[in-house]
Amino acid sequence: MKKQWIIPLVLLFCCIGCAAHPPVNTVTQTSTIDVLLAGGYDGDMTCGELLGHGDFGIGTFDRLDGEMIVLDGQVFQVRADGRVYRPPAGLKTPFAAVSRFEADKSVGLSNLDYPGLQQVLDREISDPHLFYAIRIAGRFSKMHTRSVPPQEKPYPPLAEVAATQPEFEMEDVSGTIVGYRCPAYVKGINVPGYHLHFISDDRKQGGHILGFELDEGRAEIDRCNKFVLIMPESAEDRHQLDLSRDRSDELEKVEK
Ligand code: ZN
Repeated sequence: MKKQWIIPLVLLFCCIGCAAHPPVNTVTQTSTIDVLLAGGYDGDMTCGELLGHGDFGIGTFDRLDGEMIVLDGQVFQVRADGRVYRPPAGLKTPFAAVSRFEADKSVGLSNLDYPGLQQVLDREISDPHLFYAIRIAGRFSKMHTRSVPPQEKPYPPLAEVAATQPEFEMEDVSGTIVGYRCPAYVKGINVPGYHLHFISDDRKQGGHILGFELDEGRAEIDRCNKFVLIMPESAEDRHQLDLSRDRSDELEKVEK
């Protein structure tokens, strides 16, 4: 190979390498929680594309078909039957947030319920006005989750769907909690406070967390000071949604 080709080729391979690694300390999100609350369930970004923005995160799927967990660069789908599926890379999401997980801090945990965990983590974080990716490997005597079934058009609002959500009770299960603590000012865009999903170590159970009893575990916390919001260009029905009013009450019903 001629010497003058070597430098451009090295640069080209470096650039390809960079593209494969999303930036650290950056939460990248597609669409907003208020669009989802209003019934904007048409997926836009594929799971494959989403993984280009991070190897860790949570969300939902096209037509609201289940709860998403992204862990170690793999996407898991907990559907309304409570089972865990591996969706194809082409399946789209209407709402998801991901980041490239690199823990800044690690905390040992024991004998905590969900409110207790929030108190412990609130003490550990240095600045409540930043974003935190939270990853907890643990053993749980109880884990209470939910999922949501796929919807048909015209889509009902999320609070209506959540009113009949299937819920799952697990006992003596080991697994990983995946999610975020977002600052209060994300209201309307994401969920202020904690939003956590769960997947069992055997990858058979999981969902959006409603409650738990943690026996023993370890929390890893990744502080993120950058937030990228991607609004889908192809969301044809979005202009019909009312995104002007405060949907905090609906969010409260949906998250709990
Ligand atoms: Zn959720």
